Order: sequence, then structure tokens, then C-alpha cells
Amino acid sequence: MTSPLEFSLYDTYSKSLTTFNPAATVEPGVLRFYSCGPTVYGYQHIGNLRATWFGDTINNMAKLAGWQTHWVNNITDVGHLVGDGDSGEDKLEKSAKSENKQVEDIVKHYTGDYHKQAESINIELPIGKNLPKATLYIEEQMILALQLLTTGKAYLLVDGIYYDSSDDNLKLEGDNTYTGREIKNTTKNPGDFALWKFVDEAALQKWKFNQFDSTAEYMLKLLQSDSNETMIALPNHWGTPGWHSECVAMICKLFSGSFPPVTLGKPIIDLHLGGEDHIDIHHKNEILQSKASGFELSKHWVHNKFVLTDGGKMSKSKGNVYRIIGEKADSISGHGFDPLAYRLMLMEHHYTEQLNFTWDKLTQSQNRLYGFRKDFAQILSFAKFHKVEVVEPHPKQIEILIKPLLNNLNTPLFLEKFQDFTDDILGKILQDKILNEKNLATLLHLEKEFLKLNLNPIIPEEIIRLANQRTEAKQKKDYQTADSLRDKIEAQKFQIEDYPWGYGVWKN
Ligand SMILES: [Zn+2]
Repeated sequence: MTSPLEFSLYDTYSKSLTTFNPAATVEPGVLRFYSCGPTVYGYQHIGNLRATWFGDTINNMAKLAGWQTHWVNNITDVGHLVGDGDSGEDKLEKSAKSENKQVEDIVKHYTGDYHKQAESINIELPIGKNLPKATLYIEEQMILALQLLTTGKAYLLVDGIYYDSSDDNLKLEGDNTYTGREIKNTTKNPGDFALWKFVDEAALQKWKFNQFDSTAEYMLKLLQSDSNETMIALPNHWGTPGWHSECVAMICKLFSGSFPPVTLGKPIIDLHLGGEDHIDIHHKNEILQSKASGFELSKHWVHNKFVLTDGGKMSKSKGNVYRIIGEKADSISGHGFDPLAYRLMLMEHHYTEQLNFTWDKLTQSQNRLYGFRKDFAQILSFAKFHKVEVVEPHPKQIEILIKPLLNNLNTPLFLEKFQDFTDDILGKILQDKILNEKNLATLLHLEKEFLKLNLNPIIPEEIIRLANQRTEAKQKKDYQTADSLRDKIEAQKFQIEDYPWGYGVWKN
């Protein structure tokens, strides 16, 4: 592909479709984007994974369209309080105490599970420093709080450092003031939020400002202007970062190389993603802190809607907080489904719409998945029999097929077009006994780079051996042996079908 193709997404705050032009991104030709990842204090459910799938899908779409991408998805391992605002216990601490474990063990266990859940639906998470933990960026979060304190955009109270939203004109409907956050009488304005919370000695996670040399200059400035007791105690006081600061600190550090960012006044990334729960508080607070610190965090903000179960909010009491993989019946795999049926289900719903999960609907998605696999098996078998060469796909053909994706990531429409394309190929095979090598290449390319539904599976040696034996038995008209070989193949969750030119096998 010569130059990357433009695409559009729905920007939540401008309430409009916004176009991503490769010449107009922060770094031309590169899509820099960030998604708010999981708080690893417990198992991630199917709804949490929709947000991760969303980031991965935008990544795949952009790459298909010829873009280079830089995606960061964080792991929250500190600061996220039970109340989601500034109230309640730290989620990690609570979980560690209730499971009688160290915070590190909790983080390790649930981060490991997050990887497993993501892998089960072929999500390719960012690796290394692009999957950062908040605790590795404490120094940057401290500087963020201290800098705002020195410029008067934050104030100090006995229990922490708070962002001062009094100048931010938050009186509009839908703004922080209307989100029902708990208003504590320690904060001055309802829209204020904690940048840093003081904790006592007994806290499981805690840091002091005097641990880092870089905080000294800010401390000096602060003490010169204010020498009250709380301020004097500040460098030596235990504390933890507020949840809304970590993304700001990590975005600056990972995309621009430092905090504060080198170039002020400019956006750091092109796109910030998250679930719809972040629209009113978490992301607005990220925007406020960044503006007050002299930079624009992201050019665009895009959110995916929630997953509902049985028509309502998932709830533990109703027993419908489902996971993708697990042993028990509260998971998709434990229920006997192929996890990739859920991947297909995610694609069957536009990200701007809520997805109502039911087991009946998942059955439909799984049937459709098996249908795709069956079609592929037939096409691949024909290609093998007729020795159709695997060539490079045709860029123009890809461009036409991915048009729905480029237009606000319309995955349901893309699936329809993909089905039509597959049907056309099958039609030509059956009627004219022709398979165009470019069409085959395009089909395989879209599966490999975007669909990732295991449509072109690696068939185990054992299955191939059984299938060949079955062909031999049939040639000898030994139908009893042929049937028993089919049973053996099906027992291993594969299906076999005969065509005029040979057989095809797919996973079922
Ligand atoms: Zn965030």
C-alpha cells in the first residue's frame, strides 16, 4: 500500500465523526493511541475485554489501512479506589487483604489472567513498556501533582493534594458536577479530585516525595511560598497517586519521552480510548490536568459502549458476570463454547452500541463462526487440490473490502461484505471450477490480519492421517471403517466434508 488510508471514528466530546488523516497526525503516518486498561484486582469479565478488543481492533484496522501504529494499554495496579472517585479503599489493597496475599501477588495473578483472557479471543496486547504498570511511573505522577500545586491549580489538604477545578467552568450538563460522584466536604468544588492521597504507615502501597531527587526543586518552591505544617510534612508523608493521573503521566513519558512533555501546547497522542464509564469522570479529569499542565493530552477521545448481560447490568448477585475462559459455567469456555464465538459477537456489534449478551445470541454467533470455517475449508481444499499459488493480496481489493472499517469501524457491515466476498468465491468454484489466486490471497490476508477467527487452522497430523485413511477406506467401499474414522475425527472437535475434488477439514 502506498500511503495510509484515511479512516473515521466517533469522537465523544466533539459529538461528531472525526477523520484520521496520515498527514495530520502528531507523528505523520503513525497512529499514536492509548487505551485505559484493566485494574488488576480481580478477574476481568467479558465487558472489560470489549474495551481491550476495541483497542486491538483499531490497531488491526489501522495496520490493514497501511498505518504504522503505536498503541499503549496500561495496567492499573495502584490508586483506583472502590468508589471510582476519591472515596473508599484502594481496590488492590482491598483485594490483597481479603485474599490474604501481597499486593504484588494479586497484581501478578490477575495480570496473568488478563493475558489469558485476551489471548483466548486472539487479542494481541502491546508488549514491554507499551503495557505499562502505573507503579512504574510514580515519580512522573508525583511531579504532575507537585507542578500543579506550584502553579496554583491544585491545593493541599490534610488528606492529600487536590486538583482545583474552580476555573474550569464545569457547570454544563454532563460535566463532572452532574455525574453523581461523592462530594467530600474536604474538597472545595464538586469537580475537584485527588492527584495524590496521603496514606498511613500501614498501607500496603506507599511512596514518599523525598524518594526522588527530581521532586526537590518543586518542594523548595512550595516551602518558600507556604510554610504551614502540612506543607512542611509533605516530602516525608506516605502517599499514593490519584487514579486519574497515571494515564496522563504514562502517555507523556511513553509517547513524548518525558514528564512534563518536551513540547508544550501540542497534543501528545492522536487518540485516547476507553469504556463509556470513563466519559464523565476519568477522562475529563485527565483532560483538565493536562490542560492545566500546559499541553493537550489527546486530539480525539473515542469510547466503546458497555456489554449488558440478559438485558441489564452485569451483577454478581444475579450470577451473570461472565468471563471468556474458565472452568465453571460462568465462563464462555466453561459453558462449552468456542471463545472465538465471542470475538465474532464483538464484531457483530458496532462499538457505539451496547452489546446485550445472552447465551442464545452466543449460539447464533458460534453457528455463524462454524459457517465461515466450513466455507474456508471448502475453498482451501479446492486450492490445495488444484495447487492454487498463494500470492500477495491486491491492495485495491483490500481497500474496497475494508471500506466499512474505515468508516467509523463498522464491523457488522464489514462481516456482511466479507460473507458476500466468500460466497462469490465459492460460487465460482462450484459453477466454473475456478479460484482466482488474488481472491484467495485477499481472503487469507483479511483472516490473518483482522478477523482472526481460526478460519485457516493448522490441522494436526493425527487428523490428516485419519482423514487420509478414511479416503482410502471409501475408495475400497469399506463404509463402516470410513464412518468410524469420521467419528474419531469428530471426537477431536474437527469436521470433515467431501467435495468432488477431495475433502475439507475445519474446527468445530
Ligand atoms: Zn485512564
